[in-house]
Amino acid sequence: MKKPLAERGKLIVVSGPSGVGKSSLIRLCMEMRNDLCFSVSVTTRAMRTGEADGEDYFFIDDARFEQMVEDGELLEHAQYVGHSYGTPRSFVEKKQAEGINVVLDIEVQGAAQVHAMQKDAVMIFVAAPSFEELENRLRSRGTESDESVRMRLLRARQECEEATIYDYLIINDDLKTAAEELSAIITASHCRFADRESVLH
Ligand code: ADP
Ligand code: 5GP
Repeated sequence: MKKPLAERGKLIVVSGPSGVGKSSLIRLCMEMRNDLCFSVSVTTRAMRTGEADGEDYFFIDDARFEQMVEDGELLEHAQYVGHSYGTPRSFVEKKQAEGINVVLDIEVQGAAQVHAMQKDAVMIFVAAPSFEELENRLRSRGTESDESVRMRLLRARQECEEATIYDYLIINDDLKTAAEELSAIITASHCRFADRESVLH
């Protein structure tokens, strides 16, 4: 029996409505395992209190964003509630080549672009137990204006309708249970037959 070929890191795509708990879930899962890194996106939205440039996002202006798109520096990009968001390509490619899994917290249009490009990307959608609970979380986080909450909830309904390309659905009711599910999905993705079958021949 041969050892499996050295594996390329996987793209772990986590999507779901704003306020559902994606950041909290990813943070907890990253504390539970040491084979993940987080892809820090670029965005043109304003920094929230408590966020750090280079940690939560790279905060850039419209001109810089357009330049990055033109220069092919983004793996995917999309508009969300009046602002642009995108995934820097070079970081993701470097980490994947090193065999490290890269977690992307991105909305559904960007996720569809990634899915079209990398068929073995692990596609995960996160939902709240109810829309009422989603609204509670979004409001209690205290980061959005009433208008932003309204737009994000509208968008949430659309995103749930458009969530057709995902392999897994995590219902984030209890955060720890949800993080354990996310970790289990990542573990299972490494046991895929196609990734391991070289050991059989
Ligand atoms: P997202 O990244 O999807 O926008 P956040 O991780 O910022 O969401 O979470 C939104 C709010 O919901 C935060 O105040 C967070 O503490 C809270 N939250 C996250 N998961 C849960 C959960 N399972 N139960 C209750 N509150 C949660
Ligand atoms: P927020 O403004 O709440 O941080 O993020 C709003 C939405 O943008 C969330 O659904 C989040 O997943 C998504 N998002 C964050 N970064 C990216 C990115 O690089 N690309 C895409 N397509 N969506 C992103």
